[in-house]
Amino acid sequence: MNGITQPILVLSEDALRQTGKDAQKANITAAVSVSEMVRSTLGPRGMDKMLVDSTGDITITNDGVTILNEMEIQHPAAKMIREVAKTQEQEVGDGTTTAVILAGQLLKKAGDLLDQGIHRTTIVKGYRLAASKTIELLNEISQKISLEDTQELKKIALTAMTGKGIESSKEKLAEIAVNAINYIACKENGTIKINPDDIQIEKKQGGSVSDTELIEGIVVDKEIVHSAMPKLVKNAKIALLNAALEVKSTETDAKISITDPEKMQAFADQESKMLKNLAEKVKDSGANVVFCQKGIDDLVQYYLAKYGILAVRRVKESDMEKLSKATGGRIVSNVNEISSEDLGEAGIVEEKKIGEDKMVFVRECKEPKAVSILVRGGTEHVVDEAKRAMDDAVLGIASTLELSSYVYGGGAAEIELAGKLRDYAVSIGGKEQLAIDAFAESLEIIPRTLAESAGKDAVELLVEAKSKHESGNKEYGINVSEGKVDDMESLGVVEPTKIKVQAVSAATDVAEMILRIDDIITAGKSSTSSTTPPGGGMGGMNY
Ligand code: ADP
Ligand code: MG
Repeated sequence: MNGITQPILVLSEDALRQTGKDAQKANITAAVSVSEMVRSTLGPRGMDKMLVDSTGDITITNDGVTILNEMEIQHPAAKMIREVAKTQEQEVGDGTTTAVILAGQLLKKAGDLLDQGIHRTTIVKGYRLAASKTIELLNEISQKISLEDTQELKKIALTAMTGKGIESSKEKLAEIAVNAINYIACKENGTIKINPDDIQIEKKQGGSVSDTELIEGIVVDKEIVHSAMPKLVKNAKIALLNAALEVKSTETDAKISITDPEKMQAFADQESKMLKNLAEKVKDSGANVVFCQKGIDDLVQYYLAKYGILAVRRVKESDMEKLSKATGGRIVSNVNEISSEDLGEAGIVEEKKIGEDKMVFVRECKEPKAVSILVRGGTEHVVDEAKRAMDDAVLGIASTLELSSYVYGGGAAEIELAGKLRDYAVSIGGKEQLAIDAFAESLEIIPRTLAESAGKDAVELLVEAKSKHESGNKEYGINVSEGKVDDMESLGVVEPTKIKVQAVSAATDVAEMILRIDDIITAGKSSTSSTTPPGGGMGGMNY
């Protein structure tokens, strides 16, 4: 038998293939370089990036996820790093830059270990051990917190709002966030349950950020439907309807050929009677306010106004649910069945002009289980930034209470963890010890980066901070504005433990995933373009 002389082509000739060490090196380099790109944005002194897209549009931001989304990242491993930021954003809404920097650093250190001849399975194993130990340690070093600790919760909110350019009103926004959470938090057999969706954060341009207000109830971005209706109702009894206050269109559209003018009149009278009846049903329930998810016929509006009822139509479904939670009313889908028991209550329902638009406020609800925050700001940019800050504040408090714990920021938690992790590494020994040490060192990238952003000798600050921790001061971290090692507790730099737990696990997962790859096969360009019709495959595009 002759041996096969011709190599068998499995891949197209244009396909690129990198294997073994080359593949690993390429992936690590790509992942590390995206993480390096966002590194300088970390913390309150983080720098902004100016991003110019292919059409020339400019975005200026220091938000990690935004930067990674805007960058036209090509390399698959770099794209995987971008996914870390997305996951972090979805899971906790903060700590995205931290997670990305950590993933980059874990890979960089893994590259060094590979160069020293340590096998990747050993590195992966060491990293895994280190990650689960870190999460265990995080719980150990955390401070406990409960719903009643409003001062501490306010500090969490303030830290979460770091870097969002709304410095002068931060205190007020933090207070609002804490109060809002207090309304919607439920205690279920000892644990606190918070659904951040129960806080509706609306924004309206105009006024200033300090006009931002918490409504003990809900604000609906709609006008009262009829000008003859009251603009303010006290001691409101509120009907919540998800049925139209109209006569069903099928009944009027039905093809009835009426030739006799008298019959025509009778038909019209019949319809008016039905419409009046709808308004009467609402009145008979005892309601003086109605929020309707669907339409309200002109004639029904007329009668409701006549009965002194304030009505709003085409309210969003999500707002209806919040109105129900805030007022205690039940959403009714059949007007004929509405009774006084279904009605919600509020001290005041009123229409007010906010900026350019009119909005309806449902205020002074008793024990509302959903509330609104109306964020204000003089310009579009300011109001958007204030809204993002408020989102972060609310989410920060919610994630803190989810685990009922927080850690010290400014790199303090990472320094403490690194120290404890090194002790653990010794107990494990062997080559895994090297990987666990590398993990510990990777955590220190956070305080090191913060120190660099303060424009100080980062190594010196880090050494000083570490020695504080060695003598038992776990609250010491980097005071970025003064460029010194400082007590994060008295500075009020505190963060939810959950941010760190999520960042550590997401970063470890992606580092492991990238390390496991030893073969990159990139499809050749020509093979894809030959199957794509001209015009980008959109079909029938005209220019
Ligand atoms: P991320 O996307 O990871 O949340 P940020 O730019 O928000 O990135 O920076 C978060 C880091 O900045 C955390 O490590 C946090 O402890 C730190 N930090 C926030 N405020 C301060 C402060 N006033 N002083 C020192 N460090 C701070
Ligand atoms: Mg942040």
